[in-house]
Amino acid sequence: MLFGKRRRDTAGMPSDNAGTDFDEEYVNLVPNDRGARADGAPMDCGAGIYAVDSGYVRPRLAAIHLITANGRVALVDSAHNAALPRVEAALAALGFAREAVEYLFLTHVHLDHAGGAGAMMQVFPNAHLVVHPRGARHMADPGQLNTATAAVYGAERAAELYGTLVPVPEERIIATADGQVFGLGGREIQVLHTPGHAKHHQCFFDRDGRGAFTGDLFGMSYRELDRDGHNFVFPTTTPSQFNPGDFKRSIERVMALSPAALYLTHFSRVLPSEAYLAQLRRMLDGHVAVALAERHRGADRQQHIRQGLASLLRRELAAFGAGELIEQAVALFVDDLELNAQGLDYWLAHGADGAPESA
Ligand SMILES: [Zn+2]
Repeated sequence: MLFGKRRRDTAGMPSDNAGTDFDEEYVNLVPNDRGARADGAPMDCGAGIYAVDSGYVRPRLAAIHLITANGRVALVDSAHNAALPRVEAALAALGFAREAVEYLFLTHVHLDHAGGAGAMMQVFPNAHLVVHPRGARHMADPGQLNTATAAVYGAERAAELYGTLVPVPEERIIATADGQVFGLGGREIQVLHTPGHAKHHQCFFDRDGRGAFTGDLFGMSYRELDRDGHNFVFPTTTPSQFNPGDFKRSIERVMALSPAALYLTHFSRVLPSEAYLAQLRRMLDGHVAVALAERHRGADRQQHIRQGLASLLRRELAAFGAGELIEQAVALFVDDLELNAQGLDYWLAHGADGAPESA
C-alpha cells in the first residue's frame, strides 16, 4: 500500500485512502505542519546504526543518524537547533552519555543538515565537527549561512525554521581530505567528497557495515511512499551549486564501493536497488531537461520549471503505481518542487555548469 490513513483535517485533499499499513502517527500530508513526534525514539537500522527523526518541518522529513561502536557515537548531520532534545533523548534511550559522542559528521552545510551543529557541539564536550573544507569556515562563522538561507526562504521563514545559528570553535572543527578515514570504537569510516548537490557535499562510508551516509546525493525518499519494499526517490537540486555532471560522477563513486545500504537525510535507510538508481538517474536527467527546455523564458521561468518538475513527478509516481493517490504524494514534495525549481533557475542563470554536451 502506498499511504496510510490521513488526518481528517488535511485541507483540500480527497477523502479516500487506500491503505492502513503504516503508523498513522507519522502520516501527515500537510507540508510545514509542526505536529512532529517529540520523543526522539531512535529507530534501529541494524549494524549499530540508528535514525532519529529530527522533527524538521514535519515527521519523517529529516533524519539524524547515529553510528555506534564500542561505547562511542558519531552523529551524521544535525538538522536544526530544535532537534537537539531529540538527539539527547535518543542517546539516553540507547544508554550513551553526552561524553560518548566523538564526532558530528556533516554531509554539507545546508541548514536542514547543519543548522543545529553549533548548538550540539555545545552540549557534546568531546565531539569534533567533521565538515568539508568548503563548509568549515561557515560553521565557525555562520553569518554568511544566515544571509544565504534568508535569500532562499525569506528572513522570517528562515528564522522560524532555524533560529539563531551557534558558531563552532575553530579548534573543534576538522576540515576533511577526500578519502580520509576516521576511527570510531574500532569502526572505520571513510570520507568521500561528492559535489553535485553542493560543492561542500561529502559522504561517509562505514567500511564495516558497508553503509553509505549520503546526505542529499541519493535524493529524497519519503517512507510514506514505500510500496511492496520499493522506495520512491526524487532528486534535490536546491540552490545554489547544482551541477548535474558532478552529481552523476559522485553517485557512481559511492556506488563503486558497493554499499549494502544508503542512509539518506530525507529519509533514512534505503537499499541501492537497480530500480532505485535507475529512477534517480532518470529523474536527474529529467530535471536537467525541464530546466533546459525553459532556458529562454523570461521572468516567470522559475514558475514554468516548477510546473515541468511537477509533471515529471506525477509521471514517475504513476509509473511507480501511486494511482489515485498521486496528488497526495505530490503534496509531500511541495516544498521540494519549489526549491528544486529555484535551484535550476539559478543554475541556468549562472551558466548551467555540468549540463550534458548535447544540450
Ligand atoms: Zn542540501
